[in-house]
Amino acid sequence: MCQENTLMFVPQDAKSFTQEQLARWLGQYGIAPYRAGQILRWIYQRGVYSFSEMTDLSKDLRQFLSERLVISQLETEQVQTSKDGSIKYLFRLKDGQHIESVLIPEPGHWTLCISSQAGCGMGCKFCLTGRGGLVRNLESSEIINQVCAVRDDLQDPSSLTNIVFMGMGEPLANYNSVVQAIQTITGNNGLQFSSRRVTLSTVGLAPRIDDLGRDVKVNLAVSLNAADNDTRNKLMPINRTYPIEMILSACRRFPLPSRRTVMFEYVLIAGVNDAPTDAERLARLLRPLRAKINLIPFNPYEGTEFKRPGEDVILAFQKVLLDHHYTAIIRHSKGGDIGAACGQLRAGSELKAQRSRLKGQED
Ligand code: SF4
Repeated sequence: MCQENTLMFVPQDAKSFTQEQLARWLGQYGIAPYRAGQILRWIYQRGVYSFSEMTDLSKDLRQFLSERLVISQLETEQVQTSKDGSIKYLFRLKDGQHIESVLIPEPGHWTLCISSQAGCGMGCKFCLTGRGGLVRNLESSEIINQVCAVRDDLQDPSSLTNIVFMGMGEPLANYNSVVQAIQTITGNNGLQFSSRRVTLSTVGLAPRIDDLGRDVKVNLAVSLNAADNDTRNKLMPINRTYPIEMILSACRRFPLPSRRTVMFEYVLIAGVNDAPTDAERLARLLRPLRAKINLIPFNPYEGTEFKRPGEDVILAFQKVLLDHHYTAIIRHSKGGDIGAACGQLRAGSELKAQRSRLKGQED
């Protein structure tokens, strides 16, 4: 290669490729496609950041790859540990934007809540992140790198077993990157998470729920927050495009493995959606589905008009659902002392970790 070409050459990120794409890229240079799996295993399973460490590749191939590819990683700007054990990671992206991931302790393992966008364009009224609007979609490598960075930071990387797309952003609004990231997170030559332990939470972009069920295996969670369209329209503008009925029909079509359920998240807001009649309506609404419900008492933040319901109201709401034989779990906020008590850091059974936008109240 002449010097001029070398100067113009911009290395590509190996993490931006699926295995198939990397095999094709290697093929252009006459390199056997099976090398793609080998390279990706080094990157994702052995956690290397330099091609020179890939000792089962020839020296020439390592050199060739080093000249043309990079292995990206996120810059960790801040790590804060809460008294309850939740750990917030603030990452700086290459264009200076910031995203957050939250590691949530569970008995015997960790759950990591990751972001899919910088900011969010969904504008849910109870959400501080939504107030700032969407900055940009994350690239698939930026999604994957949240998992890589946190895993690298753990003494026992195998203790990170669960991934939830419940951080900043609406994952289905960044569909292609999120699906590619899920493929790498669950792939045999990727990070090898069990698809039963990866959950995507959405406000309910109905056509994309159908796509998701077709394209990848993942658990589905829906941020519902109201049992009638009038209330939901007021809380979540997206409901005017995809009203409750459309979302629930998409959930009914979602391919659920046996004994799996769709998780519905419901932020309880005083005087807005917390009446026993709302709970009755919710119970009737979800009846055709295999559903579980997470009840998340609203966690007020400065400047919000909304309030958290009293404990008796929360318990009465739950009781209605339990009487209808639903699994309905009240989530308790985590991470209050690291600015994460905005309803995002929630732990409990099943999903264990909920949306973890550290800047605002979430689904
Ligand atoms: S609640 Fe979730 S989807 Fe709604 S604005 Fe906030 S981050 Fe976006």
